[in-house]
Amino acid sequence: MMRSKLVAGNWKMHGSLAGNLSLLTAVRQGASDVGAEVAVCVPFPYLEQARSVLSGSKVGWGAQDVSQHAQGAYTGEVSAAMLVDFGCRYVIVGHSERRSYHGESDELVAAKTEAALAAGLTPIVCVGETLEEREANVTDAVVTRQLDAVLARVGAVGMARAVIAYEPVWAIGTGRTATPLQAQEVHALIRARIAQSDATVAAGVCILYGGSMKPNNAAELMSQPDIDGGLIGGASLLAADFLAIAAAG
Ligand code: PEP
Repeated sequence: MMRSKLVAGNWKMHGSLAGNLSLLTAVRQGASDVGAEVAVCVPFPYLEQARSVLSGSKVGWGAQDVSQHAQGAYTGEVSAAMLVDFGCRYVIVGHSERRSYHGESDELVAAKTEAALAAGLTPIVCVGETLEEREANVTDAVVTRQLDAVLARVGAVGMARAVIAYEPVWAIGTGRTATPLQAQEVHALIRARIAQSDATVAAGVCILYGGSMKPNNAAELMSQPDIDGGLIGGASLLAADFLAIAAAG
């Protein structure tokens, strides 16, 4: 099956109104002749700015986290419906920084995925092993456990509307990239695991690689059979680098 490519930026906690304007404008202009789908996931306060600059362009936008709750007394939280109010198409869930610094469990990530789907968003569900886990040869077990929690909650039907991002924790922000073969192996595992629930959904699901993807390694990574694009941290803050990665998709 031909799957379209997606290149999504994760700005993390970076940006300012002034700086974002030039970055968003450059991405909007440069993405118009790129084949891949392009999106940026910005900090919550800048969603309105993303909407204002990107509306009517091919670039989608989204947030980096969402509450599992629909509404209520959850101080500081942001619901999926609120993200939809700001025109979001995407939301990152279960990023390793949320899992490790905010103690997000597999079950919470699954609940957030479900909340995003219920509101009509496309969740970008992050999975991936730490360096210790890779060295202990438990990468497959860890990724399978993270994925299974989501599958158990949303089923193949939900998975059909989600994007998975395989992000080895040791490759995020470190300049150390998984080799195309290392990444492909885990992407194939993820697809095979989903195929155990539904082969058609597995064949169509978009699986991104994330972890120090840069213009000089993006094409080789994204040419792997099960790598359908990238989730880009550091390089998404530089329009030229982000666009070069998108063009390689
Ligand atoms: C990320 O934040 O999801 C990421 C992959 O970061 P980087 O590209 O900087 O490694």
